[in-house]
Amino acid sequence: MARHKEPSFRESVDIMFNRAVALMDLSPGLEEKIRVCNATYTVRFGVRLRGGIQTFTGYRSVHSEHMEPVKGGIRYATSVNQDEVEALAALMTYKCALVEAPFGGSKGGLCIDPREYEEHELEQITRRFAYELAKRDLIHPSQNVPAPDMGTGEREMAWIADQYMRMNTTDINGRACVTGKPINQGGIQGRTEATGRGVQYALREFFRDKTDIDKAGMSGKLDGKRVIVQGLGNVGYHAAKFLSEEDGALITGIIERDGALHDESGINVEAVREWMNKHGGIAGYPDARHHEDGSDVLEAECDILIPAAMEGVINLSNAKRIKAKLIIEAANGPITAGADEVLQKKGVVIIPDMYANAGGVTVSYFEWVKNLSHIRFGRMQRRSEEARAQLIIDELERLSVEKGMGALSERFKSEYLRGAGELELVRSGLDDTMRTAYQSMRDVWHGRSDVADLRTAAYLVAIGRVAGSYRAKGL
Ligand code: GLU
Repeated sequence: MARHKEPSFRESVDIMFNRAVALMDLSPGLEEKIRVCNATYTVRFGVRLRGGIQTFTGYRSVHSEHMEPVKGGIRYATSVNQDEVEALAALMTYKCALVEAPFGGSKGGLCIDPREYEEHELEQITRRFAYELAKRDLIHPSQNVPAPDMGTGEREMAWIADQYMRMNTTDINGRACVTGKPINQGGIQGRTEATGRGVQYALREFFRDKTDIDKAGMSGKLDGKRVIVQGLGNVGYHAAKFLSEEDGALITGIIERDGALHDESGINVEAVREWMNKHGGIAGYPDARHHEDGSDVLEAECDILIPAAMEGVINLSNAKRIKAKLIIEAANGPITAGADEVLQKKGVVIIPDMYANAGGVTVSYFEWVKNLSHIRFGRMQRRSEEARAQLIIDELERLSVEKGMGALSERFKSEYLRGAGELELVRSGLDDTMRTAYQSMRDVWHGRSDVADLRTAAYLVAIGRVAGSYRAKGL
């Protein structure tokens, strides 16, 4: 691979940032203030495991504190390094600004392959890492609120929350120190699938605008579109599942660590996921053609490509051969700055990461608010809404009997009568967020002749908001 020509992930984010600020009227000082990462804390700690001491390296980077707390996930992977955490922290700043989640950007990571450890060992390691971060306020409900990312999930978040609360026994808002927790530990309905759901809502919004569909050289709706997903982890799995089950899209390709599956008539996502859970990979899955080399499928014909795993998978070595018309970046940074240029020249439309995968942090925001208000969304209103709906139904039925008209359908009655519970409210809030944020990018994309792509538009909106916040503070 010709990766030597590629800038690092952090440099890639800076290049994209620079492209946008060149079109803005920021003072050079403010521009620099926004670009740089405020602080990156590196910790090395030992844990007694398997009869010896193992040393681990972890990071928590804070990119911008124009709003606090700062927010962003904690990643567990052997590839974690300072450059990566800083790039991801910067993306969190812009992502939160774009979707109006009131946070600055942060990110954490631990160099570890979680598959090599038993659950009790991971708990020990996670609690120790959390201790190191919490004692420096790098985990704190009002200062820094982590969440899941690659290699972590609600189990790790529950350990982190518990560790923080053990260290801060009188903090009544302790549960708000981390999001993405299990429901019984203060989590919120719909958080696990939130990023995948956000990708679905983003695509739905894209397909509401004929001009945008035309720009991607497509026509029609999501229904019947051929979709290739790279990475069937939490984000890729949920996105592919919802798009195929609810929007009629055909998942024609799935790329994983051990090769790829391809079938033009559509792959059953649920069946593949079950196979993966049982066998640890996709190899041997009987109902689609298996390719040893994942790039065969990454570069195959399709309408929509969803990179949903790592950064840098679409780079200078393969960008020219990508055939998708539309790419939606469900992962953070899957397209390098160089590949972005190549794809743009080819006329590929890219829905950028800072928008496309913002569903996770959006629902994290709702979880944090839930934790601070100490009450489940909908708990006060739900039955009262239902009682008011019942009044209307009763009156309509009385009138229809009086006028000799037919009865109301049972389906209408049961749907109208159902007051919104937490999951419905979370979905409504997420859908609204994804639509509004897309429209703010689209306005810039369509409205400015010097803005050729959605990524630059997204940066312009996000940086404009961060700059506004710094200016208001008098910086
Ligand atoms: N790790 C996710 C992201 O990259 C979620 C962050 C959060 O919920 O704070 O957006």
